[in-house]
Amino acid sequence: MPEKQFTQVCRQIDGYRQKMIDLQRELVARVAVGPDQGGPGEAEKAAFLKDLLVKWGLKVDNFPAPDDRVAGGARPNLVAWLPGNTGQKVWVLSHLDVVPPGDAGLWESDPYTLRVDGDRLYGRGTEDDHHGIVTSLMAVKALLDLQLVPPRTLALALVSDEETGSAKGLDFLLANHRNLFAADDLIIVPDAGNPDGTMIEVAEKSMLWLRLEVEGRQCHASRPELGRNTLRAAAHMIVALENLGREFALENPLFEPPMSTFEPTKKEANVPNINTIPGRDVFYLDCRVLPEYDLAAVKEKIYAIAAEVARKFEVTLKMEPVQEAPSAPPTSPEAPVVKALMRAIREVYGREGKPQGIGGGTVAAFFRRAGLPAAVWMTVSHTAHQPNEYCSLSNLVGDAKVLAHVFLHAA
Ligand SMILES: [Zn+2]
Repeated sequence: MPEKQFTQVCRQIDGYRQKMIDLQRELVARVAVGPDQGGPGEAEKAAFLKDLLVKWGLKVDNFPAPDDRVAGGARPNLVAWLPGNTGQKVWVLSHLDVVPPGDAGLWESDPYTLRVDGDRLYGRGTEDDHHGIVTSLMAVKALLDLQLVPPRTLALALVSDEETGSAKGLDFLLANHRNLFAADDLIIVPDAGNPDGTMIEVAEKSMLWLRLEVEGRQCHASRPELGRNTLRAAAHMIVALENLGREFALENPLFEPPMSTFEPTKKEANVPNINTIPGRDVFYLDCRVLPEYDLAAVKEKIYAIAAEVARKFEVTLKMEPVQEAPSAPPTSPEAPVVKALMRAIREVYGREGKPQGIGGGTVAAFFRRAGLPAAVWMTVSHTAHQPNEYCSLSNLVGDAKVLAHVFLHAA
């Protein structure tokens, strides 16, 4: 039965190409930059979507997060419901907000006016995260138009504030409306992925950003014995820190790359001229650590390695974290939501989905910390946050079918 329905649904979704373009056009035109980034918030886009979904016959709830920086004093968090045969749910959570366009000169067309060029739909937000909004809405619309009742109740969440920390979005929902979600719900977050649609993100590394400040003594470059050269000391520290890979050598094949990474990145300017030995240097490490390791132990080891070099070069060392985010517990690669997505990806794209861990953070971490197994998945063009952001129309069609497959088959 679901197989026959799925064939009908696919045909239906194939007929929605123009609808998808039109919806992207409406969404792109409604600027939803959050107040943290100087924008008006998500109200206009949310009102448009609520209107549309109500017209389709869906019940839509709003769970507004108070925020007096925006007109109306709250940030919208919508949930649209399509009742199924059971109270168990399939969630698709997308976010309403977008990042600002950045340097306008880098855009080839107005970021807030949709431009269609072949298969590509250009505009701020088209990929991040209108892709999720459009695919989930169109998958639900196909069921509605064919009057199909899914086995599980479908819940489309359209949340605020993903780009600036989720305090007014998913974090708020979980803190204040936790009972919306149940541990046996299937939760899909279409907000990251890879270009062939095979990556199902289930885990994240812990993130640790460190600032290391080295103090020595500045002097004329012709008399190095009078100073303590902090650039040389910092350089030796960076080399000594290469040992971290051996100290924390575990590999976990779920992740890409499979090991923890410890990268020296930013270096602050020291002296402006060549003939002065610097007496102060500051550099930074970006560490992405497998969840198997405790960040406190990592910090301790880094400090010990750098301090030994500092002693040798007779400089002093100060180390402080700039960001420290322990990873959320991973979603099991065997979780029903992962299995449902793998089956759907195989059916629609003819490819094998692969549960994977990544180095960066996603909004799914909030679900995972709350004990809710969530999977992040979509087919991306990797243009999020960039100038000339676009999404591919054929990916919208394919991904809508994948979601519809999950909707019809998840028992
Ligand atoms: Zn996003």
